[in-house]
Amino acid sequence: ASLYRIDGWGAPYFTANSSGNISVRPHGSDTLPHQDIDLLKVVKHLTHPKASGGLGLQLPLIVRFPDVLKNRLECLQSAFDSAVKSQGYGSYYQGVYPVKCHQDRFIVEDIVNFGSPFRFGLEAGCKPEILLAMSCLCKGNPEAFLICNGFKDAEYVSLALLGRKLALNTVIVLEQEHELDLVIDLSKKMNVRPVIGLRAKLRTKQTNYYGSNSGEKGKFGLTSAQIVCVVAKLRESGMLDCLQLLHFHIGSMIPTTSLLSDGVSEAALIYCELVRLGAHMRVIDVGGGLGIDYDGSKSGEGDISVAYTLEEYAEAVVASIRYVCDRRSVKHPVICSESGRAIVSHHSVLIFEAVKPMAHQPKPDDIQLLLEGEEDLYTAVMRGDQEKSLLYVDQLKQRCVEGFKDGVLNIEQLGSIDGLCEWVLKAIGRSDPVQTYNINLSIFTSTSSHWGMGHLFPIAPIHKLDQEPKACGILSDITCDSEGKIVKFIGGESSLPLHEIDNGRYFLGLFLGGAYEESMGGVYNLFGGLSVVRVSQNDGPHSFVVTRAVPGQSSSDVLRAVQHEPELMLQTLKHRAEEVMHTKRGGEEKEEDDEYKNVAACLDRSFHNMPYLATEEG
Ligand code: PLP
Repeated sequence: ASLYRIDGWGAPYFTANSSGNISVRPHGSDTLPHQDIDLLKVVKHLTHPKASGGLGLQLPLIVRFPDVLKNRLECLQSAFDSAVKSQGYGSYYQGVYPVKCHQDRFIVEDIVNFGSPFRFGLEAGCKPEILLAMSCLCKGNPEAFLICNGFKDAEYVSLALLGRKLALNTVIVLEQEHELDLVIDLSKKMNVRPVIGLRAKLRTKQTNYYGSNSGEKGKFGLTSAQIVCVVAKLRESGMLDCLQLLHFHIGSMIPTTSLLSDGVSEAALIYCELVRLGAHMRVIDVGGGLGIDYDGSKSGEGDISVAYTLEEYAEAVVASIRYVCDRRSVKHPVICSESGRAIVSHHSVLIFEAVKPMAHQPKPDDIQLLLEGEEDLYTAVMRGDQEKSLLYVDQLKQRCVEGFKDGVLNIEQLGSIDGLCEWVLKAIGRSDPVQTYNINLSIFTSTSSHWGMGHLFPIAPIHKLDQEPKACGILSDITCDSEGKIVKFIGGESSLPLHEIDNGRYFLGLFLGGAYEESMGGVYNLFGGLSVVRVSQNDGPHSFVVTRAVPGQSSSDVLRAVQHEPELMLQTLKHRAEEVMHTKRGGEEKEEDDEYKNVAACLDRSFHNMPYLATEEG
């Protein structure tokens, strides 16, 4: 298990158990030993055919653990509660979840529900998001914030104002100066007193991949000059009391607390200035950026690691705001954060299968025969002379390719020689140590940030961890695209230790991918969304219960996504089958009917099933 650094990136939720499988500890460090969930048992239950008591789901699939989600939320809240208490901070923390991280209905509903005792709210960045956030928050704590970020038109602003009419705590955060005119105009027309926030464009700049939109040239937010104009306009309109929140976001995965403190302190200064200018400021919203340690190194390097814990993050935020506000004698504001990645990443595990292509194995007699024809090579191999063996293998290969081009060798002979060369390399211990394992997955659909920006996720087998992996490999997906592969792994490794696959199945898990990946992936190559299940901890004999299972997108679904009409296509193909089989008819009508039925059933199945490779049990 140490080969995969599970304790580094997985704690406190994932660990290797005594059977060599990965266990999920759904309540983090509060999990009791009997509550551990064996991931292999879950996958077997999900994939076993219905007839033998399973759910008959096809891989790849995503297993979500709502208990983990609850634990993440509670840990975030308690980290801030502790920092507030230990530093004598004069207000409190009230966070929101940015739904763009994962808009799945059940995830958002869970967050609203689990976060209700501490008024946890939502952040939206576009019209469909505000619609979903408003409807979910109807069942939440009435004080929970609904932070409305993003580019806004009149319809978006009207929705946010309507939210206040519905007694939801919506805050319209101005990202652009002209949005203020819409807010002033529409709030008067709709007769609603809005709560307004400002997104400040900070000078503090993140230098990692995610920081490209931070700093003075960032895409979002208002400059100091624009902030002054907004304040003046609000004062003129008699609405300065509506301005209550200051927001900033310097990018995801903030690597260190020193950079975080710089950003928060700069924002706190602007907050104090807004207080001085007469706004009724109440809340400072430090945006997202609370990172997670994908490689377990705690180094804060490479866009995949952060050099702090949840507690240290909260302490740095609280301390920076308190310090600045105390120096300016400003009342401590409510602290809001829009942490997405840190809340949802851990609770979702992507399970997929790896298959190693069979190497061509020449028969021992053939090897003997071929080697005897190659005297020099034969002697070198027998003597164990690696250098000479390699040299003769190279020469033999070259000669054979020439022979094939000249028509002296046929393809069977060429194949035998290739097999011999592979055998020799293996026999002298010089075969390529890195093997290619095919994975039944689409990199583009399921790990698009790996494909797009080289983001690394921890990947490990979910079983066999008590056996030493005898191979190492790269992972090549089933899309018809040579970029569909993973050749870099956490720790900077260019291959992953993997087990030899005998007759059984080999399941791998990609962990910490619960944020962004599913929202970003499309249907490239027509491989669509995966089966998703929700698994909760249960005190019964199996320690887990599947509370919801939704099969992934079928071939019909992905075809529909690109404007085809699967029902019509099916009709056309069946019609063609009828015609063709009818013309063949004569005397053997019964047989023809059976054939038509088989063809029709095969077509029905193909439209209905997922596009991924089907395996025996799936
Ligand atoms: N808030 C805003 C405005 C964002 O743009 C983002 C993401 O980039 C977030 C919050 C969430 O950030 P994270 O997932 O790093 O917490």
